[in-house]
Amino acid sequence: MARRLPKDLAWTNVVLEIDDPVCSACARRMHVKKVRRRRVFTLKGPICYVSKLMHCPDAACANHRGTFGPPQELSLAMPRWLIGWDVFCWLGHRRFARHWSVPQLRAELLDSYKIELSEDAIEDYLQRYQCMVAARQQDFALLQEEYAKTRTVVLSIDGLQPEKGHETLYVVRELGRERVWFAQPLLSSATAEIRPLIVQAKAWAERLGCRVRLWMSDKQDAFVKTIGSVCPGVPHRYCSNHFLRDLAKPVLELDSHAKVQMRGKIRGLRGIEREVLQEIAAAQASPGDDGKRPVTVAASAPHGLDVVLDYCAAVRGIINSSQGGPLRPPGLRMSEALGDVRKSLQRNLRLKKGGTRKHCWTD
Ligand SMILES: [Zn+2]
Repeated sequence: MARRLPKDLAWTNVVLEIDDPVCSACARRMHVKKVRRRRVFTLKGPICYVSKLMHCPDAACANHRGTFGPPQELSLAMPRWLIGWDVFCWLGHRRFARHWSVPQLRAELLDSYKIELSEDAIEDYLQRYQCMVAARQQDFALLQEEYAKTRTVVLSIDGLQPEKGHETLYVVRELGRERVWFAQPLLSSATAEIRPLIVQAKAWAERLGCRVRLWMSDKQDAFVKTIGSVCPGVPHRYCSNHFLRDLAKPVLELDSHAKVQMRGKIRGLRGIEREVLQEIAAAQASPGDDGKRPVTVAASAPHGLDVVLDYCAAVRGIINSSQGGPLRPPGLRMSEALGDVRKSLQRNLRLKKGGTRKHCWTD
């Protein structure tokens, strides 16, 4: 990545050298042959790493021609990178865990850390980050460590289509440890294309010494057939998320219908408000005493009429709200909220008829 560096930056020099420079071939003390300067952006500021490259002084030794750099250099930044590991992790975490966009990342790097990177440079680093995460996810030694105490696995397969018309990414996940095992873009969901994924998942489970306890999917034909033949006898369940999604549509339709009916029953809100406002205006136009009351006092309505306006505002808010999803349909929320308003009105009525406050709250 050959990129031009901004000129007026205060680079901090950090000298790196080999702790014990002894030639591995002839055991002589090695000498510095040349110095390599690398400028790297870190979250703590721009750093210039000055690496002392050593070689064996003995012209006859095999280590005379080559040079040896300090090994700690790799733990600070990868070769040819313009950023340190800290910036790299910062980028990856914000992009993939926090879903920041590339322009947003670029602006934040510049504002908070004075690091100027182009969008394509950031995209390059993000691609490398993804490769590293994928490699780590599929690292068998790590996987084995994680599944060391597990005897059974629950596998799921699902197709994700990033955009219409693009190839679908089929993802195999293990639900017990909540891990993505692997993913493969496929052009179709034909049985022949799906089969290798199921076979691979089964092979992984066997290598880990785990039994496949359950498969979960949206029960596409290809999944049902392939899983049935590759893993005979393993139960195959309908993914509850897909089940819910399929169920949500008719439920939300019914709910929306109920909402329309409820709204139809609540009429005349505007009429009540107009009446109250007229009454307030009339009371303010004919002040009872000297007529010099401050504006703030005059603004409060007589006889608690403003409470009526508050009720109207609350009810209007309720019938105009469209929040909620399949698990808490908007109509159900509306019905509950209207029930609360009704109870509150009844409490007030009872108070007015002479009930005690205590009686009211315990009701
Ligand atoms: Zn040597």
